[in-house]
Parts: sequence; structure tokens; C-alpha cells
Amino acid sequence: MVNNLYLVTPRGFCAGVEMAIKALTWMLKIYDETIYCYHEIVHNDWIVERFKTKNIKFIESPEELPKNAIVMLSAHGTSPKIENEFNSLSSIQVNAVCPLVTKVHHEAKKFSEAGQQIIYVGHKNHDEALGALGVAPDSMFLVENEDDLKEINISSEKVALLAQTTLAMSEWTPIMESAQKKYPNLNMPRKSDLCYATTNRQEAVINVSSKVDVVLVVGSDTSSNTKALVSTIKNLGKESFRVNTTEEIDNLDLRNKNVAVTAGASAPDHIVQEIINKLQPNETIYFENTNETEYFPLPKELRSNITTVSNFLLELFPENKVEPVRSVNKDKQWSATEALTSL
Ligand code: SF4
Repeated sequence: MVNNLYLVTPRGFCAGVEMAIKALTWMLKIYDETIYCYHEIVHNDWIVERFKTKNIKFIESPEELPKNAIVMLSAHGTSPKIENEFNSLSSIQVNAVCPLVTKVHHEAKKFSEAGQQIIYVGHKNHDEALGALGVAPDSMFLVENEDDLKEINISSEKVALLAQTTLAMSEWTPIMESAQKKYPNLNMPRKSDLCYATTNRQEAVINVSSKVDVVLVVGSDTSSNTKALVSTIKNLGKESFRVNTTEEIDNLDLRNKNVAVTAGASAPDHIVQEIINKLQPNETIYFENTNETEYFPLPKELRSNITTVSNFLLELFPENKVEPVRSVNKDKQWSATEALTSL
């Protein structure tokens, strides 16, 4: 049993993850055929396994897609080359990329077209980094840390700096400052590439950290923003553990400690609740740092498909009064948690 438990807000699903989970659920409801999803739809083991029990197959390359199959591209973004390959093979393609990842792709395109060499701060082999680096492969350089930055040798005066959206602020800031020293004319986007969900969750755990002995971060090992939360806390000299399931807290000595609980942007809230139940706190304190209201609409191809289906139903069964615009807009009142429950 723990002493005080601080339940941190914001935690868990961000607007991009909400959109991607609901988009894949809509696809399952519209089509009878197997839906192929390029990369894990979001980086959470429980969610991926849940979709696998339905008619979803996760694939890692266009070669795995049967001709004329239906494909969805994940929230992490896809390189233009791979996207074109899927486009030529599939009958229907829906891209569930988060708009904030698309923003970084647009910046990469804009800077490379302006003749800039681009330093991209991200994690090697992460789906998001692979997708972004594919936007301008000849003019982008991946750096993971300050040593990588020291080693890059860019002769051009025209240098830009971009980032993976889910970095820890504590890993991004020193690299950005060193890059600004190394390249005094460095170009950067006006608004940081680190997304609102990443920074809000990190700021919340920084602010709660002085009240607790340990911070538990719910999320999978594949989730970059989850790992960023753990490293943010450890950098403050405080204990932090990433937990993916209730069983994983069995090995932690949390008795009589004050514990904060948060969750990465792709972690479902039912796992957080199960963990809280198991921790049996003396008292639960709700620690609200920021209130998030962001909503990202479904991908435009999917909105158009839903409208087509609704129009068809309206023509066939006018007595049911299916209103095409309303059925798409209803998505806003539906949560990803409800979508997962409906599977
Ligand atoms: Fe989009 Fe940020 Fe969520 Fe990633 S973590 S899906 S960039 S909102």
C-alpha cells in the first residue's frame, strides 16, 4: 500500500493518438476485408494486441501488402517514397499521421527546397524519425546526442534544425543550444517541433516531482514520449519507473511512499486505473497541471468515405434519416477509449 498517490493530469491519450485509434476503428466498422496497418498504429502493446484480435494486420513494408488491399498508415508519419509505394499497391489508403508530425514533414520539405542542410534531432530507427528523414533524405542528418552533433560536418552556411515531436525537453534543449553555437545562422521553425502533448506531460511531472518519492509512468517500451517522461524525472534525481502492466509493479518497493502516476500519450487509461487499484493508496490527490482540449479530425480520406457510406444509406433507407455530415462530426463526441471498448 502506498501513502499519497498523485494522479497527474494531463496524462495518457493525446489528440493524435485519439484520432489514429478512432480512425482504425472506423475502418474496421466500414470494411469487411482485412485492413493492413503500416507500423503499429500507436506505440502501445495492449492497443496493438487488441487490434490484432480483430481484422487488422500490422506490416512493416509495402512488400507485405497484398495487391489491392486496404491500408492505413500509422500516426508516426510515413516517408513520401513509402507512401507512394503503398498508394500504387492499395485499393484504399488512409493516412492517420498526426498533424503535428505532418508539420515537421512540411518544414523539412520547405527547408530542403530552400537549399538548407537539415539537422534532425531524433531517435535512430524510430518510426517517426524514419518517416521524417525520408522527406529529404539527401539533405537531412540524424543526431541523437551532442556527440553526434560534434561529428557532423556541414560546410553550407544554410543549416536548419528540426526535431522528433516526442523528445524529452532535457535532451532537446542542450542539443539545440550547442547547434546554435556551432551554426550562428541556424534556422528553426517558429514553433517548437516538440508537440504540446509531450511538453505538457513533461511539465506536469516536473511540477509534481517535489511532492513525491517515485513517479510511475504507464506506457510501452516502444513509446518515445513515455521514455522521455521517465528520463525527465530521473534527470531531477528522482526515482521513476516505466510500467506497462499491473504485474510490473510487483517488483517495486513502493510501500508507504508518496507516488505520482502519469501515462505516456499512447497508454490507455484502464491500465492506469488498474495500477491505482493495485497500489491501494491511503489518499488519492488529483494533480491537474494543464487542461488539454485539442481535437484532431479524422483523416480526410476517411471522412470522405464515411460521408459516401452515409449518403448511400440515406438513399437506401431514407426512413433512418442518416445525415452524412452529422455522422462524421459525431466523431468529436466519441473517445478513443469508447472506440476500443466497441471493438
Ligand atoms: Fe501527435 Fe504529439 Fe500525440 Fe505524437 S505525441 S501523436 S506528435 S500529439
